[in-house]
Amino acid sequence: RQAAFRTDLTALLEQMSTGKESLKFMKRRIHHLARQWAQAANRLAQRLKDKWREQKLVLVHVGFLTEESGDEFSPRVLKGGPLGEMVQWADILTSLYVLGHSLKVSFSVKELQGFLGVPPGRGSCPLTGPLPFDLIYTDYLGLQQMKQNMGLSLKKHRCRIRVIDTFGTEPAYNHEEYATLHGFRTNWGYWNLNPKQYMTMFPHTPDNSFMGFVTEELNETEKEETERGKQHRMAVAYGKEVSMWKGKEKFLEILHRHMEIHSTVYYEQQRPQEIPAFIKNHGILPQLQLQQLLRKAKLFVGMGFPYEGPAPLEAIANGCIFLQPGFNPPHSSLNHAFFKGKPTSREISSQHPYAERYIGRPHVITVDYNNLEEFESAVLEIIKVKVKPYLPYEYTCEGMLERLYAYIHYQDFCTPDVPVAPQNASEVPRRYLVRLPNSMAFGWPANMSGPLMWPPLSAMQLWVSEEGQSCTEQCQYRNLVCEPAFFSLINSKDVFQQLQIQCDQMEVEMNHVFPGFSSSKKNCFLQKEPLLFSCAGFKHKHQRLCPCRDFRAGQVALCTACL
Ligand code: UDP
Repeated sequence: RQAAFRTDLTALLEQMSTGKESLKFMKRRIHHLARQWAQAANRLAQRLKDKWREQKLVLVHVGFLTEESGDEFSPRVLKGGPLGEMVQWADILTSLYVLGHSLKVSFSVKELQGFLGVPPGRGSCPLTGPLPFDLIYTDYLGLQQMKQNMGLSLKKHRCRIRVIDTFGTEPAYNHEEYATLHGFRTNWGYWNLNPKQYMTMFPHTPDNSFMGFVTEELNETEKEETERGKQHRMAVAYGKEVSMWKGKEKFLEILHRHMEIHSTVYYEQQRPQEIPAFIKNHGILPQLQLQQLLRKAKLFVGMGFPYEGPAPLEAIANGCIFLQPGFNPPHSSLNHAFFKGKPTSREISSQHPYAERYIGRPHVITVDYNNLEEFESAVLEIIKVKVKPYLPYEYTCEGMLERLYAYIHYQDFCTPDVPVAPQNASEVPRRYLVRLPNSMAFGWPANMSGPLMWPPLSAMQLWVSEEGQSCTEQCQYRNLVCEPAFFSLINSKDVFQQLQIQCDQMEVEMNHVFPGFSSSKKNCFLQKEPLLFSCAGFKHKHQRLCPCRDFRAGQVALCTACL
């Protein structure tokens, strides 16, 4: 069956009836954004007019909101607890629904069992019939619950699973045996999925797929009104929970010398000492009201935590400048409790690296908060400078629909579409390799594309990293993005030869930094285990072969020829 775009969200909202605060929050959000979704659906439908889109049978099982996982989130919705995950799940549900897929939604193990056809109380019971879904979106907790209920048949169907994973899972942590042998074991990870099956909140490591969420976009009239109504000496502090305010007095006092500071922090009765008396607190606001507050404010001030939340994008979309602390040394699982046990070695250079790198000045200013002079001069600059509301395309409803459409249409982890790890010279698709004028780069002629390959081969550019550098960084340095789908094509002796890399020895090993080489020892290495192809990996004294690709303006998940 062909999928048809939907613009009326009533039936989706009806599928989500329950008394939990988390679901109420999600439903309010879906309802509030309904018009934007409908407009985006119409625009994308227009663009994809001639494309056949198959209607998929989709199950969404939100593990972290099930009673069986302890659901710590729902009781904290009105008390300053994390809301980013709920924002993202609401938007995923809406996108799948708007794209016209057949959708079942589960918020409990009982519902999950019902949809999978597993008799309740039977525990780990293999499915007898075929899996009644083409795709299953869940999270790590949901995956665990599915394992308990489906037993071994989960393994058989795992290529249909997509794991919503806020901060991402790098390949070294995903591969069970490798993670265990090399110290990459964490509380999560080691599910042996294709790393692209993990879907993140921001474009973190390109080893995973970037799922994202949406931010409300202002129309032209609203933008003009917002610009006219800006109060240049009004700031909103970013921190819903009292704990986020500890030890922040110094810079807040400086800010207070120049601006009136508002906040939406939750506390019960008496104002805690962490929240200075000069802060005008509104308590937790519904999203719509928070947005009204942001429209008036000039500055949204980060206080170092939470990391990588949706709120800064909302502030920037409402014409605020986001001022945030840079981290030197960067925060990671090595030095910060929050990232400990998370399946990633990613280092974050500020509270919101996406805002820092993909948006930047004038909308985002990152400074060292320990240097109070630097902080104060940033505040003075912010009062003077004029900025317009800004929202990257990938965070609009249309951008999210476009991205998810492409994933559903093109990503296929069930049938391997590329010859895996060609290691003999004869297997290398040599006719595609063309030397670019630039010394270390190869490109694929634009008219060539692999029969089933996505992203298409024409998007590939091969580069060699510096010593100790990851492919994520090398591709970024070239203004490209690392594309793990191409690793298997460059994992060959022939490619080393064509690049004129001296290899006295050629070894084939399981290692998340291969294919690569050590130029001092003249040792070259091929990758033995396709699941360990990794953009994120790096190793001292090692250079890597990096498959990069271009990307669309405002949509880093997709290459120019990807649609
Ligand atoms: N939010 C809200 N009311 C408030 C403060 C925040 O509804 O008073 C919403 C905000 O619109 C954003 C979401 O909370 O979409 C998540 O915000 P944050 O960036 O703080 O991330 P979190 O740590 O909650 O995941």
